[in-house]
Amino acid sequence: MANTCAICGATINVLQSQKLMDGNYICTKGCRAKGLKYYDYVHSDLDNVKDHIHQTEVGTKIWQDLMEPLKKTRDKNQKMQSFHPIYIAPSLGLIAVIEARGGLFNTKTYACVYRLENLQLYRTERMPARTSGSDKDKMCVHLGFVHTKGLNDVYIPFDDETRCHQCVDYLNKLFGLDDSFRSGIKKSVTQFKATKSMWDLAKAKKNGENLEEKAKATVDAFGATIIGDRTQFKDAADQALAGYDLDQALFGLVS
Ligand SMILES: [Zn+2]
Repeated sequence: MANTCAICGATINVLQSQKLMDGNYICTKGCRAKGLKYYDYVHSDLDNVKDHIHQTEVGTKIWQDLMEPLKKTRDKNQKMQSFHPIYIAPSLGLIAVIEARGGLFNTKTYACVYRLENLQLYRTERMPARTSGSDKDKMCVHLGFVHTKGLNDVYIPFDDETRCHQCVDYLNKLFGLDDSFRSGIKKSVTQFKATKSMWDLAKAKKNGENLEEKAKATVDAFGATIIGDRTQFKDAADQALAGYDLDQALFGLVS
C-alpha cells in the first residue's frame, strides 16, 4: 500500500513513511531528513513538523555562519562550550543542538539554534530504553524552550553520564545559579508548579491549543529568581542575529 508525503507529494511505501499524530504521512528520506532526529514526529502534526523543518533550515544557516567558526577561536571571550551535540555560545547569547550526518569526508551538520534567554528548563533525566532507541536506559539532558515553535522540548541522550551533569552545572554557572540554591528550589513548591507548567505547555502544543496564555503562565511560574539574570544573553543574541531577516521565522530567535 502506498502513501503520499503530505509535504513534497512523493509516493512512498510503508518503509519510507513516517506517520504523524494527525494521520498524515511524510517521506523519511526527503522530508523527515530535513529535521533533527531528536524531533518527536509520532506525537506531532503536519504544521508542527513544517515549523521544525523551517527551524532547522534557519538554525543550520546560523550555526554555519556564527557558531561553527567559534569552534576554532582562540579568543577566550568568544569561547563556545561543547557538550556535543549541545553547543553553548554565551558571547552570542545562543545555544545549539546539532546533528552531523554523512561519511568522514562529506559530513553535513544540521542544527536548531535557540536564544539562551528562552531556555527555561534544563535538567538531567533518565530516558527509558524504548525512547532512547538503545537497549538500556540512558541519561539525558532535557532542554525546554519558551517562545519557540518546532523542536522546543528536547531530550539529548548521552553515553557518558558525567557529561550530562557537567552540561547542567555549566548552565547553572552561566545563569549565576549555584548548586545549593538550585537544589534548594528543586524541592520547593515553586519548582513543582513551574515544572508542571512546562509539561502543560508541551501537552498544549500537541493538542494544538492556544499557547500564548500557557507560555506566559510558564514564564511567570519560573520567575527571574529561578532562571537567573538573562539580560546579557538577550542583548548578545539581539546583536548576533541583527543581520538576519527572521521576521517570518519566529522560532525563538526573534526577540
Ligand atoms: Zn516528502
